[in-house]
Formats: sequence, structure tokens, C-alpha cells
Amino acid sequence: MSNCPNCRNKVNPFDLSLWAFPLYFRCPNCKIRLRVINSKLFWVTFCLYILIVIPMITYIPIIQEYNLGIILTVCGSLVIYQKISSYMLRKENLALYE
Ligand SMILES: [Zn+2]
Repeated sequence: MSNCPNCRNKVNPFDLSLWAFPLYFRCPNCKIRLRVINSKLFWVTFCLYILIVIPMITYIPIIQEYNLGIILTVCGSLVIYQKISSYMLRKENLALYE
């Protein structure tokens, strides 16, 4: 479970403090900033995702026909993010950000 190292409250994986760079979080309870110590999993997943999604959007005609590329990319990334976030936000992997 992902708990804040400062106040032990649960950290919401969607409570990012910088949207462009999802390795920084803000604790909803004590408002302290947290960072992910080991972000390897995030970057590996990110690269794999790009490698799978770009050819899919480019070569599957039904996606192009109905203009589903952006919707699929956004939905897919949210689902995957939800899955990796429980691993990424485990207690040992969160540190206070100064
Ligand atoms: Zn906290």
C-alpha cells in the first residue's frame, strides 16, 4: 500500500504535483511533496507503451477512420498507470522531496 512517509496517510496516485512529470506527488493530508526513488519501472513501461501504441494508431485502419487514436492513448495510459502506480508508490519507494 502507498502511504505517506511523513503522516502515514494514503497517497493517491493521481495526486501528482507536476503533471508533466509523474514522479512527484503531493500527500492529500499533510500536503508534503513526495518523490519516487526508483523510477525505472515507470520509464520502461512508458517506452514499451509508446512502442506498442504508435504502430497501433498508425496501422489499424478502424482507429484512423473513427479518430480513436488520442482517446485510446489516453485511456490506455491511465489504465496502465493505475496498474504500475501501486508498485511504484509502495512505501520504500517514496521519499520526501526537498
Ligand atoms: Zn502525508
